[in-house]
Amino acid sequence: MISRIIGWLVAVALATAVVPARAQDEIALFDAHLHYNQEPNPFYDLEKVLDIFRRNGVTGILATSRPNKGTHELVDAKAPGLRVVPFIRPYRVRSDIQTWFDDEAIWELIQAEFKRGTYRGIGEFHIYGKAAARPLVKRIVDFAVEKDLWLHAHCDEEALLILFGHNPKARIIWAHTGFSTPAARVRELLEAHPALIGELSYRSGITEGDGTLSAEWRALFARHSERFMIGSDTWINERWFQYDNLMKAYRAWLAQLPPAQAKNIAHANAERLFGLRAE
Ligand SMILES: [Zn+2]
Repeated sequence: MISRIIGWLVAVALATAVVPARAQDEIALFDAHLHYNQEPNPFYDLEKVLDIFRRNGVTGILATSRPNKGTHELVDAKAPGLRVVPFIRPYRVRSDIQTWFDDEAIWELIQAEFKRGTYRGIGEFHIYGKAAARPLVKRIVDFAVEKDLWLHAHCDEEALLILFGHNPKARIIWAHTGFSTPAARVRELLEAHPALIGELSYRSGITEGDGTLSAEWRALFARHSERFMIGSDTWINERWFQYDNLMKAYRAWLAQLPPAQAKNIAHANAERLFGLRAE
């Protein structure tokens, strides 16, 4: 009898252990900087990746990949509970990062991908300083405006201003929000450019060493919580290893914000910007 009870207790314990880690009251997250790179094969297969989103309460992703095949797979999976917002990555292989802005083949790639009819933006692309002034970059910015696409730009401030200079109607998600651009300057840029959104992966200064929100970022979020999104930036395999901890770290500082601000940054901004139904 005792052994049967023990056996039953063990069975209950095992069953409990496989229940998804996400508590019902956890805030849903939209990952606005996701790469599912495949050169030639992905680090994790699709099922594993979808499971990582599920266990982290990630209910939406801004999906990109190099090449774009990984994004196609994420879209085609039609995974329940996951909204996929696909962006055209203007790269076939890693070395395109250095040359895409002068490469006519990249324009052809963007045109061919766009014909799939599912894309909501172009990026993430990397551009620094005056390279943003290249004719192909302007052509891509104009194309994005014409087709109602967002740009996801990993760039310095000089390039950011050149991108907006190409076409004042451009809508730009600033990958990493300048990494270390002073918070006061980020605020000025947001206020000067109403179609600028800051994505916060690798962004320094948000928290102090002990995990407490810094005063300047608390103030910036209080003023502009509708202008930021979080992201994982799974650009290398290590970022997939760290995925759970990255999301945990976001949750830790989101929990220090007033709920309405936290909700905006966690997922509501993405829903508004991409016209998704509310979570
Ligand atoms: Zn990235």
